[in-house]
Amino acid sequence: MPDNRIIYEGIIERYRKFLPVSEKTPIITLYEGNTPLLRAKNLESVVGGNINLYLKFEGANPTGSFKDRGMTMAISKAVEEKSRAVICASTGNTAASAAAYSAKAGLKCAVIIPDGSIALGKLSQAMMHGAKVIALKGNFDDALRIVLEITEKYPITLVNSLNPYRIEGQKTAAFEIIDFLGRVPDYHFIPVGNAGNITAYWKGYKEYCGFSNANCEFKNPKSEIRNPKLPKMMGFQAAGAAPIVKGKPIKNPKTIATAIKIGNPASWKKAEEARDESGGIISTVTDTEILKAYKLLASLEGIFVEPASAASVAGLIKYSSKVHKFSGSEVIVCTLTGHGLKDPDRAIKSAVKPKIIKQDMKKILKEIGL
Ligand SMILES: *Cc1c(COP(=O)(O)O)cnc(C)c1O
Repeated sequence: MPDNRIIYEGIIERYRKFLPVSEKTPIITLYEGNTPLLRAKNLESVVGGNINLYLKFEGANPTGSFKDRGMTMAISKAVEEKSRAVICASTGNTAASAAAYSAKAGLKCAVIIPDGSIALGKLSQAMMHGAKVIALKGNFDDALRIVLEITEKYPITLVNSLNPYRIEGQKTAAFEIIDFLGRVPDYHFIPVGNAGNITAYWKGYKEYCGFSNANCEFKNPKSEIRNPKLPKMMGFQAAGAAPIVKGKPIKNPKTIATAIKIGNPASWKKAEEARDESGGIISTVTDTEILKAYKLLASLEGIFVEPASAASVAGLIKYSSKVHKFSGSEVIVCTLTGHGLKDPDRAIKSAVKPKIIKQDMKKILKEIGL
């Protein structure tokens, strides 16, 4: 019998030579990464033009969001550095991921979340994995400020995306896209909250193509890479939480997309660099546009994401209808950052409620439409 098992051991083993790990680093992994890059034919006809649209479904990570890519790095390095405890401020997914990887590593984990602004699925994960969950009266920006103050004074490791290992891990999503496509995309659409992820993708694209990193062993042979040009980074913030677009911090950010409800992004400058170096944009989408894309993804492509994740697709739809007509054959990737089951309340609010019917075959068949 041939051995058809494909050995996959998570992003650190797969991309070890691009990451700051050594033989001595204990690898704490839940086999994150290796997520689907799905061709989205049905959405292509909504967007128009003759584009080739791909969706990077990060909801397929172990805890249901891209945060796992960064967390495997952050927690592995924390263990290597003999840390005993980690802490983060979180709109939910960082908390869920930190809690899970800490459980695996045997580390203490504390998370500070904005009270009332976190989706139920994420909260239940953090609680189940045994993190100390503190619901702060305040928003995410308040939580991050407090966490930074704590990590300055006490021996506890910060695992927010200000921890550089988080960005290192997250950049592997760009590697996977290049590996899958055999080239870089022309455009990359992505939701922007604290702006760590757009920073990570841009770093990943540059390094994997050998543009900026001397350690990059990727030879970029012409036969393999048909388009060595880098993608335009297209970031989208929620209209009510768009500090980068507005050019100033937002005191009371408002959006139903809680994962990007952030008024003062930690990686603000880096996000602007990604935008400017790539010739891309950072713009806004309204909650209405986000919810429309959220429903289209579920109904046309069979992909259930949380609302914040749909900001990339909402951005693409807006951009292609209002700003730029794609000429055809462009390769476009949208990152879908997290799974729809994270925020079941929003899903139930957005769909038609099931009808309650008696055990009456006629009525049931009528309801089904048979
Ligand atoms: C964290 C997160 C974002 C925002 O990513 P940043 O790196 O903070 O810009 C978007 N969507 C989901 C689902 C997230 O968990």
